[in-house]
Amino acid sequence: MVRDKNRAIHSTSSGTSDKIIIYAGELEYLSKCITESPYLETGGNIFGVWTPFGLPMVQYVVGPGPHAFRHATQFRQDIGFLEANADKLVEEHALHHIGTWHSHHSLGLAEPSGGDTASTLDGMRECGLQSFVLMIGNYRNGKAAINAFRYFSSGERIKLRWVVLPGESPYRKVYDRTHPGLVYKPSGIAELLPLEECRLTADRQASPGQVVTFDNDYWLSDSNNRKEFAAIVKYLKSRFDSVSIFMENGSCVELRISDPSSRCRLRFDKGFPHEAPKIVVPVNKKDQLSPLPQWNVNGNKISEAVINLLKSIEI
Ligand SMILES: [Zn+2]
Repeated sequence: MVRDKNRAIHSTSSGTSDKIIIYAGELEYLSKCITESPYLETGGNIFGVWTPFGLPMVQYVVGPGPHAFRHATQFRQDIGFLEANADKLVEEHALHHIGTWHSHHSLGLAEPSGGDTASTLDGMRECGLQSFVLMIGNYRNGKAAINAFRYFSSGERIKLRWVVLPGESPYRKVYDRTHPGLVYKPSGIAELLPLEECRLTADRQASPGQVVTFDNDYWLSDSNNRKEFAAIVKYLKSRFDSVSIFMENGSCVELRISDPSSRCRLRFDKGFPHEAPKIVVPVNKKDQLSPLPQWNVNGNKISEAVINLLKSIEI
């Protein structure tokens, strides 16, 4: 098994290359394919382009063909179906085969198996590809989970974060209408567990070992305050499964909670800790600031003041 390495190795001018771009509609399509198959592997192919910054952009997901081999621990695509789709998608839309996907259904494995890695790298070598995407689905209590990985010709693999574009891919409707005989229609439901999402630009997720520098007047430039911050993170992680740290710039860090039960961002900007952290919640897909009670850090540790604040507004 190839171990994940520091993503900074693959820095590009737009940030890091640990991102994948996809339309919400194509994620829905994948979810329907995954939720309809709780006990057997299913899968297909991913068509799209590489952006000028080298990120994979998914434009169209192909499902399993009529002669695909589907077993509890194996999926093999119907090659004739893949080739027929590939010909049309390239000829008509200049979309290329940038990856594959398959579901490990109810099995525990949420990442590629050793065999998946070996066959992906073999395929890349045969076709002379530098990079290829593999998405792994899972069936979890009626819902779909999806994780995306990117392989490099060096043998390295990184896990990707998702940039989800709203709405349908512009290719979905026109292609499905033009080639109804080449389109697999899944019967599952579009219920998807939360993904690790990020924005296309301006985000830098702090990772262990990464050297981070803060502005001199920012609270986290003080090592005692960094201990306070660690206590806040520890508290949130004890309550929520998905908590990530994002550094916007040298004077702003965000903690993002993206659990099914709660989605919000705690923003520690230049004014903190004199002012309260800003709490941003999505309302109808728009960010809104939560109104906060009186903020008073005097006499308290910063971490205690933040934790008390969160408890008082039931976060
Ligand atoms: Zn697999």
